[in-house]
Amino acid sequence: MRAIIAGSGLVGATTAIALHQVGIQSVLYDQVDLVQAALSSGGAPVAVDFGDSGGSVMLASSALRVLRTLGLLDEVLASSLPSTYTNWFKINGSAPIVMDTAKINKDCGETDPALQTPIQILRSKLHNILMQACHKAGIRTFTGKKLVSVNQTSTGVFVQFADGTSAEGDFLVGRMVFTQQLPTRRQIFGESSKAEFTGVIGHIGVVKTRLNNITLKETCAFYLEREKKQLVCTFKVSDELAAVQVMTFNDPLPVEGDEYRPYSDLPKESTRLADLLADWGVPKHVEAMMRKSFRISPAAIYDLPDLSAYHKGRVVLVGDSAHGMVPNAGLGLLTGLEDVGVLLELFRNFRNPQDLSKVLDLYSQLRVPRGQDAAGKSRDMAKQYYTGSSTIGHFLLRVGIFLFNHNLVKYGKVYDCPTDVAAAINGVQAK
Ligand SMILES: Cc1cc2nc3c(=O)[nH]c(=O)nc-3n(C[C@H](O)[C@H](O)[C@H](O)COP(=O)(O)OP(=O)(O)OC[C@H]3O[C@@H](n4cnc5c(N)ncnc54)[C@H](O)[C@@H]3O)c2cc1C
Repeated sequence: MRAIIAGSGLVGATTAIALHQVGIQSVLYDQVDLVQAALSSGGAPVAVDFGDSGGSVMLASSALRVLRTLGLLDEVLASSLPSTYTNWFKINGSAPIVMDTAKINKDCGETDPALQTPIQILRSKLHNILMQACHKAGIRTFTGKKLVSVNQTSTGVFVQFADGTSAEGDFLVGRMVFTQQLPTRRQIFGESSKAEFTGVIGHIGVVKTRLNNITLKETCAFYLEREKKQLVCTFKVSDELAAVQVMTFNDPLPVEGDEYRPYSDLPKESTRLADLLADWGVPKHVEAMMRKSFRISPAAIYDLPDLSAYHKGRVVLVGDSAHGMVPNAGLGLLTGLEDVGVLLELFRNFRNPQDLSKVLDLYSQLRVPRGQDAAGKSRDMAKQYYTGSSTIGHFLLRVGIFLFNHNLVKYGKVYDCPTDVAAAINGVQAK
């Protein structure tokens, strides 16, 4: 079988690597316009470098399991930092709340010590690892290819790109832009499949901490003033580097396609945002992180309404195009990597092209509840951060984290793609 993958982001690239494991040939197409050898070489395999953009992402056990299956875990672990604790503070750094994330993962059923501690990794570093793996597997990547239309027949799928070129395959893994009213998306997934802008823009800085004499004790820390809707977070990704993210409500939307692309006027943005943080009264090292950032990228925060299926015919959605969620619980990429793990297990079990619709039906059946759960948790966390009084909100968070830390309430059950897929297949066979 041949797959067209529209969108070569973190989940799209991981999907290509997974499909390669089960002998499905895929080609990646991304709207990002990069001048690189793939274009001039007619799409011959080259490692496409999407450049340095974005900040840090946290990945916990179920995502690490998928990376292990794909043979990428060791490289990812070597390029990341363990994030044993998550810390919350009031905006000035007082009243700490500490979540023992590694213990909670163990309590949720992760038995492998190597996977119990979540990691923080630079988004661009992770993307690089994935694109290199695609390159090694001979997976072709074309950039400057914005998907604009999709036609399905009983035997295949035919897509067109904005530059007038086209591609054909047995199925489409669509990172069909979820932030726009793309007519194709509406036709396939219905009028309500458009993500809503939440009004929040994340400004993500990356800073050389050691070089700038910045001491960052915590690997993962959130600073909050609920009543004023102020939120800033810091993430250590190595002994040398860290990310700082400030969320604002009054900034204009980045131009489409420019998300995660660093601001071109760095001195202006770093001064503006660091002054804002000083105004909020954040600890000095947090303000310094923003002021000294060597790049800052904007990310508009969208929330996609819950979809009732993640596929239609020969089009299947993975990652943010299926369940784009607000980032407050750090679950977006993790949920996307689980999508990939499930798709991989399904194709392992059903390799015959005639079973494609069975694979995609089961995929939706397994992934929709999981995607909705993660999106719901993310919305709850955003509500926790942005509504209610500062004192009561912080107290309630403290109570919630106490319950998780002491295993009095479970955060969830560790998710294992092969187990979930096997149970679903057994369920179908039993009927
Ligand atoms: C501030 C912030 C912090 C986050 N932190 C975390 C975290 O700690 N942990 C976590 O698990 N998740 C986190 N997330 C979420 C995570 O970044 C996303 O879930 C993840 O990047 C989704 O991957 P994706 O491949 O689906 O989409 P993306 O990585 O956004 O990639 C989509 C790709 O599709 C391309 N594209 C779009 N439209 C088209 C088109 N029409 N034609 C062709 N190509 C197209 C784009 O150019 C892009 O390359 C965070 C998100 C934000 C904004």
